[in-house]
Amino acid sequence: MKELLILGSTGSIGANTLTVVREFSNLYKAKVLTVNSNIDELEKQINEFKPETVVVTSPARAEELKTRIGGEVEILCGIDGLTEVAKRGNYDIMVSALVGFAGLAPTIEGIKLGKRIALANKETLVAAGSLVTDLAKQFGAEIIPVDSEHSAIFQCLAGESHSEIAKIILTASGGPFFKREKHELEKVTVIEALKHPNWTMGSKITIDSATMMNKGLEIIEAKWLFNVPVEKIDVVIHPQSIIHSMVEFVDGSIKAQMSKPDMKLPIQYALTYPGRLASRFVETNFPKIH
Ligand code: NDP
Ligand code: MG
Repeated sequence: MKELLILGSTGSIGANTLTVVREFSNLYKAKVLTVNSNIDELEKQINEFKPETVVVTSPARAEELKTRIGGEVEILCGIDGLTEVAKRGNYDIMVSALVGFAGLAPTIEGIKLGKRIALANKETLVAAGSLVTDLAKQFGAEIIPVDSEHSAIFQCLAGESHSEIAKIILTASGGPFFKREKHELEKVTVIEALKHPNWTMGSKITIDSATMMNKGLEIIEAKWLFNVPVEKIDVVIHPQSIIHSMVEFVDGSIKAQMSKPDMKLPIQYALTYPGRLASRFVETNFPKIH
C-alpha cells in the first residue's frame, strides 16, 4: 500500500488523482489532502477517503471546517500547514497539483526527503528548474511528470540513452482559438477561452492553453525535466490530442506515446511507474482514431 500526499486535492488533477485512488484502493491511500478554500468538496473527500490530515490554506475556511467536522481528522492551515505536511514525510508519493507558484515550497520539501514526486505543477520547474533538478539529484528524489506531454516524453525515453535524443517534439492542440485570424482574437471572451476542445482542466491552465502560453511553459518544463537545450525542443500543432508528444532519436527513429486524452492515464503512470496497471479509464482503439 502506497500512501499519498495530494497537494491540491480539489483541483482538476487532484480530483482525477482521487479517481485513480478509488479504482486502486487496495494499492493507494490518500493520506493527506490539501486545498485552498473549497471545504465543501474537501468535506466530501474526507468522508470518502478518510485522510489522516488535511490542510486548508485559507485560515478562515480552516476554522469553518473545524466547527463542521470537529476532531475527525487533523486540520492544519496556511502556507505553513502545506510545508509542515510535506516535511513530515509520512507518505510515499507526493502528488504536486497546486496551481501556480504556491506549489514550489512544499514540492521542494518532498524532494529534500527523497520522495517520489508526481509533478503536475509545472510552475515548480518554470520558476525554479535549476534548483529543483539539482535538489532532486542530491536527495535522490524521483520526479515523474504528470503533464501529459512530459509523461509521453518520459515514457518514450524509457530504456533509451539520453545522448541519443535528437529532438523532443511537444504536441499542442492549438486550443479553442486555433485557426482564428488575428483580428478575430480581439473579440474573444473569457468564456470562450475557458472552453478547451479536448481537455477539462483548471481555469489558469485552460486560459494559458488558449493563449498558447502553456506551451511556452511546457518547453521550459521539458528543458529541465529531460536536460535538453531549448533548441532541441520543437512544438507541433496536433488538434486531436492523441499523440501526447514524441522523441526523435539520432538514427531518425521517432517514438510517440498515444492515447485518448484523459489525465487519469499520466497520473496513474506516475503512481505505478515503472510498472503499469490495467484500468478502465482509457480505451484507445487505434483503427478508430481519426
Ligand atoms: P485547479 O485550479 O483545478 O486546482 C488547483 C488546486 O490547488 C485546488 O485544489 C486549489 O484549492 C488549490 N490551490 C489553488 N491556489 C492555491 C494556493 N494559493 N495555495 C494552496 N492551494 C491552492 O488546477 P489544475 O488541477 O488544473 O492544475 C494544477 C497544476 O497542474 C497546475 O500547475 C497545472 O498547470 C498543472 N496541469 C494541469 C493539468 C490538468 O489537466 N488540469 C494538465 C497538466 C498540468 P481550492 O479548490 O480550494 O481552490
Ligand atoms: Mg500539458
